[in-house]
Amino acid sequence: KQPQEDTMAKKNQKMVEEITAMDVDFAQWYTDICKKAELVSYTSVKGCMVIRPYGYAIWENIQRILDGMFKATGHVNVNMPMFIPESLLEKEKDHVEGFAPEVAWVTYGGSEKLEERLCVRPTSETLFCDHYKDIVHSYRDLPKLYNQWVSVVRWEKTTRPFLRSREFLWQEGHTIHATAEEAIEETERMLNVYTDFCEKCLAMPVVKGRKTESDKFAGAVSTYAIEALMHDGKALQAGTSHYFGDGFAKAFGIQFAGKDNKLAYPHQTSWGVTTRLIGAIIMTHGDDSGLVLPPAVAPVQAVIVPIAQHKEGVLDKAAELYKALAAKGIRVKLDDSDNSPGWKFAQYEMKGIPVRIEIGPKDIEAGQCVVATRFNGEKQTVALDENYEALCDTVSDLLENVVPQGMFRKALENRTNKTYVCQTMDEITKALEEKGDGFVEAMWCGDEACEDKVKEVTGVGSRCIPLEQKHISDKCVCCGKPAKHMVLWGKAY
Ligand code: AMP
Ligand code: ZN
Repeated sequence: KQPQEDTMAKKNQKMVEEITAMDVDFAQWYTDICKKAELVSYTSVKGCMVIRPYGYAIWENIQRILDGMFKATGHVNVNMPMFIPESLLEKEKDHVEGFAPEVAWVTYGGSEKLEERLCVRPTSETLFCDHYKDIVHSYRDLPKLYNQWVSVVRWEKTTRPFLRSREFLWQEGHTIHATAEEAIEETERMLNVYTDFCEKCLAMPVVKGRKTESDKFAGAVSTYAIEALMHDGKALQAGTSHYFGDGFAKAFGIQFAGKDNKLAYPHQTSWGVTTRLIGAIIMTHGDDSGLVLPPAVAPVQAVIVPIAQHKEGVLDKAAELYKALAAKGIRVKLDDSDNSPGWKFAQYEMKGIPVRIEIGPKDIEAGQCVVATRFNGEKQTVALDENYEALCDTVSDLLENVVPQGMFRKALENRTNKTYVCQTMDEITKALEEKGDGFVEAMWCGDEACEDKVKEVTGVGSRCIPLEQKHISDKCVCCGKPAKHMVLWGKAY
């Protein structure tokens, strides 16, 4: 070996080892993974990020699966302008009030000052309404079930890769219906689509709930959200679904002639998830060796690492395994580079590849290979039969069932261990002190003053009013007056 190669190998080895332990500094661990797994890169554009090929490939998989789910529920894709004239943004009073503090404005076109400034869309309700006004006239025009995959801009003060950036990629669904019942049904349907996607494809348990008045989307009648608990016990809002009633329709003058020929206002919804989901994957499943990806969205689902690959027959065998797995539609990679197997193991652990297949001279002699799963480190040997059917079946079963279910159970166990049922403010403080950050389940009277006080005194804010309610006590955890709901509280990202 050349001395230069040796230093290169050492440098590579170091690169893999350099990640901060989660328990030492969770925030630094998160940043390390984002960089070392090559998901993002910082840029000269403040508060924004470069999503690198490996990170973007995860997003493409999220997009592909969700888009299929949207289409299966009757939605179609459109594309709206990225600018909103100020006069349009101002039409719905609550909406503009909520978003004004975080919009970016375009004031010049070339060297000419614009007569009316344009904001860069922070969300597109106003643009959809402006369009619906033109195309919705009769009950026959309803419903419209639209979605778009775009990026939006919100001038966030503090930013973190994926979790909160100034520009982020998302989908925003915007629908318009003849009746309130239909629109409410749609709001719930899409919350359920998000829940299914998070739990089955991302192996991430979520709590479905309604936001309190103080936490509602600007202009919404009600906001529903899915809340997930990250490994460090902090809560993350993973997606939202809003019911607007007919408020936007009234503000924008959208009316339709019903079957009775009378004019009526339609009812609307909107719903969105963003690149934040990649942050959720990292903080739900990752460990001290790096990223752990759910198979459904992993760019590479299985990696083949040849051992002693210079020995005769090893690379040929590895190539055969590759062909057999690829033919089954598995996203498989064969790494025949001259990095050491140890380096490759560490590298693909860092990248979170769900399944690793090892094949070396001894395995070939014994007519087997070794299959390891990333999320729990378990290894098994699989016989190499004629068409590698046992291997293909084993890997398919791991990717479709064993791994996602195992990852889900592990994440659920973390959430269960970090969910505290409390009857008094003291109990909340004590639970958080003794067991660390987590979800708190406690009763609430519905008064905003109590909501604020809980946060002020204990540090946990209301995340949502879970749709699945539990009866913990008759009294508000704060004021002791009769309780209306069980609320899920937490420290939020
Ligand atoms: P909203 O339109 O405000 O309901 O936001 C929809 C979803 O976008 C939220 O549920 C968050 O998960 C996510 N989100 C909000 N702000 C950001 C941001 N700055 N960066 C990434 N995701 C965001
Ligand atoms: Zn109270």
